[in-house]
Amino acid sequence: MPKTKYRFEIERSIFLEHIKQAGLRKTSQRDLIMETFLSTEEHLTIEDLHRLVQRRDPTIGHTTVYRTLKLLTEAGLAREVRFGDNKTYFEHHHDHGHHDHMICTACGRVLEFFSEAIENLQDEMAKEFGFLPTHHSLRMWGLCRECQHTAESSVSVPSGAQPRVRVKTAIDS
Ligand SMILES: [Zn+2]
Ligand SMILES: [Zn+2]
Ligand SMILES: [Zn+2]
Repeated sequence: MPKTKYRFEIERSIFLEHIKQAGLRKTSQRDLIMETFLSTEEHLTIEDLHRLVQRRDPTIGHTTVYRTLKLLTEAGLAREVRFGDNKTYFEHHHDHGHHDHMICTACGRVLEFFSEAIENLQDEMAKEFGFLPTHHSLRMWGLCRECQHTAESSVSVPSGAQPRVRVKTAIDS
C-alpha cells in the first residue's frame, strides 16, 4: 500500500495539532521519528523504529522514540499490536481500516486480512453471550505459503502452548 503525499500531510497535521494540545514544542527529532514511522508500512517495535531513525540521526535516544510513539498512539495515528512473541508492535492507525493478522511461525511474516463474514460472526457470537465488544484482535499462527514448501518448517506445532514466533520486519537486515 503506497502512501500518498496527501495522506501523509493529513497525518502530519493531526500529529502537530496533538503536540500543541499537549503543550509540547515541535522538535526536529520528534518530526523525524514521526516521518519515519508514517512512511514505513510495517509492524514495528520501538527498537525497530529506533534503529530506523538512528540511520538518519544517530543522536536520537530510545526514550525520545518511545515518547513519540506514545504521542502518535494518543493522536490516533498508531496502534499497538501483539503477535505472541512478547513484544509490542506498532502499526498505522489513521485511515487504515480494521484488519486482523496471520503470523507465520517459521519465517515471521505477518499477513493482514479482513473478512466481513468473520467480523459479522464475531458480533453475532458476542450478542449471543450478551457481551458488548469494544475491540478485538484476531490472530492466526501457522505457516505461510512459501514455508509450507520447505521441509524444515513442516514440523508440527506442539499442542496447548502458543507457538514460538520471531516476527520479521523489513528492516531486519
Ligand atoms: Zn477483525
Ligand atoms: Zn513463512
Ligand atoms: Zn497490521
